[in-house]
This record gives sequence, structure tokens and C-alpha cells, in this order.
Amino acid sequence: MKGLKFDEVVALAQQLVRIPSPNPEGDTAQVASFVRSYLERAGIESEWIEPHPGRVNIVSTLVGRDPGPHIVLNAHLDVFPVETEEGWSDDPLSGVVRDSRLWGRGANDMKAGAAVFIELFRSIAEQGSALCGRLTLMLVCDEESFGEYGSRWLLANRADLAGDVLLSTEPGGLGLVRTAERGMVWAEVKFTGRGGHGAHPVREVNALARARRFMDAVDATVAADGVDAETFLVPHHQQERYDQNMGKGAYDHVRAVTANFGEVTAGVKINMQPAAAMVKVDVRVPPGLSSEERLQRLRDIAADLEGEISVLNFIEPNVTGSELKYVSIFRDIVDNRGGQAAVTGPSPGCSDARLWREMGVPAISYGPYPHGMGGVDEYCELSELEVVAQVHQEFVTKVLLTGGNA
Ligand SMILES: [Zn+2]
Repeated sequence: MKGLKFDEVVALAQQLVRIPSPNPEGDTAQVASFVRSYLERAGIESEWIEPHPGRVNIVSTLVGRDPGPHIVLNAHLDVFPVETEEGWSDDPLSGVVRDSRLWGRGANDMKAGAAVFIELFRSIAEQGSALCGRLTLMLVCDEESFGEYGSRWLLANRADLAGDVLLSTEPGGLGLVRTAERGMVWAEVKFTGRGGHGAHPVREVNALARARRFMDAVDATVAADGVDAETFLVPHHQQERYDQNMGKGAYDHVRAVTANFGEVTAGVKINMQPAAAMVKVDVRVPPGLSSEERLQRLRDIAADLEGEISVLNFIEPNVTGSELKYVSIFRDIVDNRGGQAAVTGPSPGCSDARLWREMGVPAISYGPYPHGMGGVDEYCELSELEVVAQVHQEFVTKVLLTGGNA
């Protein structure tokens, strides 16, 4: 691989995995400090941006001699916490390479992807004189908690960091260029009742019974909701290819509205009717539909049952048009490597890329398959990571090292 040395990507990814940065707590000072020194040793200066104690972002920009587009490389330094070390074959922070895989928390989400961007940035810095336009490396502190002090903060406070196109190495499948994401409504609903003795149950006084009716009603509305396969962003004939990349059944999921009840609390004693109940629901909304409308439905259902609803998080579905120049350049590069036409489509989940789409900046995510993401024995397949590195390198080279006229 010209310019970018893959063995150095792997060595760097191993070192990043070994530095803990779980979110929560979301303290990235240690890993950011490592990255800053690493860049410094390569003669690259970077900014240390810490909007909140411990929430550290590292940003660096290369400015070419001639004008051209501005590409932003975004990766997050925070990772999911390790719930339990039980079941792991190695220490979750081992960063060991075995069977051509990198193992450990954050191996695919997304320290390997961060290592790709750091090394890509370094290799472009070394070829500095050929650069037309700008290249920004943005390593952020809190993607796992929606970017309050990371990407969202940086975009709100630094207009120079939006760029003309955003690249992300968030994990996914190698045949899928992700240009969209589902939206999301997180809500907490509280129900109250008068309570009473468990031997004389009266549904009207039992807050948990109301919570259950709420959940049934939400399930019913969600089951009837979604985008028709014929009109969905990913055409129906690409269903199989989409599922190959995102897992069996993913196509049906990603065009559906889904609801998950992640937390329910109620009651203090078996023979008492709960006087208070709380439900937290996570509703996902595919491109083509409106999160605002789904929130209104939740409000209506809650109101019917005299529930008090609070919105915990709200994101509309977001899309970068597949016809855009940067998307077609990127897709062509993937096509040429894969031998089969790449699918352009949405992720089932959310990432920081949405923040660029919300500003009208094209955003493309392309990364290694998320083996064990958030679970035990997370790993990154190095052969996949190498393709990811090659594809992003080719894109940046094509757009910034040829006068920006690609
Ligand atoms: Zn991620």
C-alpha cells in the first residue's frame, strides 16, 4: 500500500486498544495524550480541545498550497464499557493479534478505524506538497453518548471543521457504503395509580398495568409502521446484498420502525399494586419517515393513559444523496475492489456522521465488520481493515492529490 503502511496501522490500533477509554465515564485524556505525542513524533501539530474536564478531542488540519475540497476524517476515541470480563478469551484491553484478528474492547468500534485515519493523515502529511485543499483529522471523545462534547460541540463552535465531505470508519460491512442513518426517539414515561392491596387488584389503580397497556399500544403502532420495500432507499432487489453486509434480516429491520423497552421499574412488594411505574422506550425510524410524527404518537398513547412523557433523545433520520459526486467516487472505489456493485444505504443505528448530514455536508461511513461490538471478544478482522484503509486512502488521494477535480 503506497504511502500508508498497514503494519503500522495495526501496531497503532493495538496500542489504542490497550489504553482504556470507556464511555461512561467518557474520559479520553489518556488516549488523546498518546495520540498527540504520536502525531508530534511525526512532526504533526494538533489541537487539544477539552470542552469538559476529561472529554478531550484531538484535531489537526493540513492545508494544501492550492485550493481544493476539505475532507474531514472523523473517528471516536471512546468505546463501550466492558460489562463483565467473564467470557472474554483475553483481557479486554489486550490488543492482541491472533488468527489475523485484533482483539479487545474497541477493536472494531472504533480504535482500528481511528488508527487507519491517523496513519492516513500522517502519510498525506508526508506528501504535503502535493495536497490541494484541506484534510482534517478529528478524533472525538464521546460518540457513544451522542457527541455533546465531541463532534456536536466542535461543529457548533468551529465552523472551519465542517468541511465539504465527512469520512468515518465506523464499523459496517465492506460491500455497504453507508450514507444514511435511522432516526431515534428515546422517551421516558411515568405512570401513577392510587395503588392498593394485591388481593383486590383493580386495573385502574395499578400503575404497572397502565405501563403494560402503553407498551402494548406502542408495539401495535410500530408493527403497522415502516417503509415499503419498493420505495425504500435501498431497492428491494438489493435486499440480499444488504443482508450479507449487515446480517440476516437487517434489510427488513432497517426499513421498519422498531421499539425497544429497555427499562421498566414499578412496585415495592408482591402483594401491593404499584402506585408508580416507569418505562423507557427506544424507537428507531427509517429514512423516509419522520421521528417527529413517531414522537407525537408516543405522546398521544401516553396521554390516553395519563402518562407523563419526557423526551431523552431525539434524532431525525438523515440521508446523504447517493447521486452526489463524493458518494459516487467512493462507491466506484469500493466496486473496483469488491468485484460486485456496492450497496449504498443506511445504518440501522446512529453515529456522529448524522451531524454533518444535518448541516447538509455529505457524510460517508465505511469500516470493518462489527464482530462482537459492545459484547465479549470484540475483534477486528485485519484483512477487512486493510481494505478499509485502502478505500479511504484511495478516496483521499483521488480528491485531494489530483487538484480536487476527481
Ligand atoms: Zn462507533
